[in-house]
Amino acid sequence: MSRIVLASNNPRKLVELRRTFESTGTPVEVVGLSEVSDAPAPAETGTTFVENALIKARAAARDTGLPALADDSGLEVDALNRMPGIRSARWSGPQATDERNLRLLLEQTFDLAPERRRGRFVCAMAFIDPDGTEITKVATMEGRVISEARGANGFGYDPMFVPDAQPGNLTSAEMTAEDKDAISHRGQAVRAIVPAVVAHLEGH
Ligand code: IMP
Repeated sequence: MSRIVLASNNPRKLVELRRTFESTGTPVEVVGLSEVSDAPAPAETGTTFVENALIKARAAARDTGLPALADDSGLEVDALNRMPGIRSARWSGPQATDERNLRLLLEQTFDLAPERRRGRFVCAMAFIDPDGTEITKVATMEGRVISEARGANGFGYDPMFVPDAQPGNLTSAEMTAEDKDAISHRGQAVRAIVPAVVAHLEGH
């Protein structure tokens, strides 16, 4: 069985990735980074989601000797020059929390007209094999930022984001995890990269 390290210890990401590999019928064991490495996380010095995902995957592959997968994601708001973008997690400063970031988004967008509220979540996934193979996939979930926070599911900016790809007017924090996964930037990126990784591993 092939072993892959996910350059994250987020249990939800691990579960989702394991489920997606399982659905391909190819036996792949996915381990969390802290199970196989205690090296410090690399600085995310890239200027794009793909660059930052590659930095994390390369570091994990180097530190563990295993093929590694990493993701990087965030929210782009067109009227804010695509901010917070790759700075999404730390947007409200060194003490950033989901709650503070959400409050800052509310403050930064309070007077935007409805037609200027377009935005999207972006997720880049990167795979690095110590043999030098590099695979990247990027996916988005288009939608709009609203002027209030609604819903208690999800995390981050979900309470202010209404995805286009759903029949109602729900924020992604009002959707079930399954419904969000089906259309989300991360769900799509994971479903795109897993078959490509399986094909690479099977070619060995
Ligand atoms: P990470 O790539 O998982 O570290 O996410 C970066 C940041 O982007 C998070 O801290 C959130 O602020 C934001 N973000 C990424 N994906 C989502 C999402 O699906 N919902 C809400 N916020 C998200």
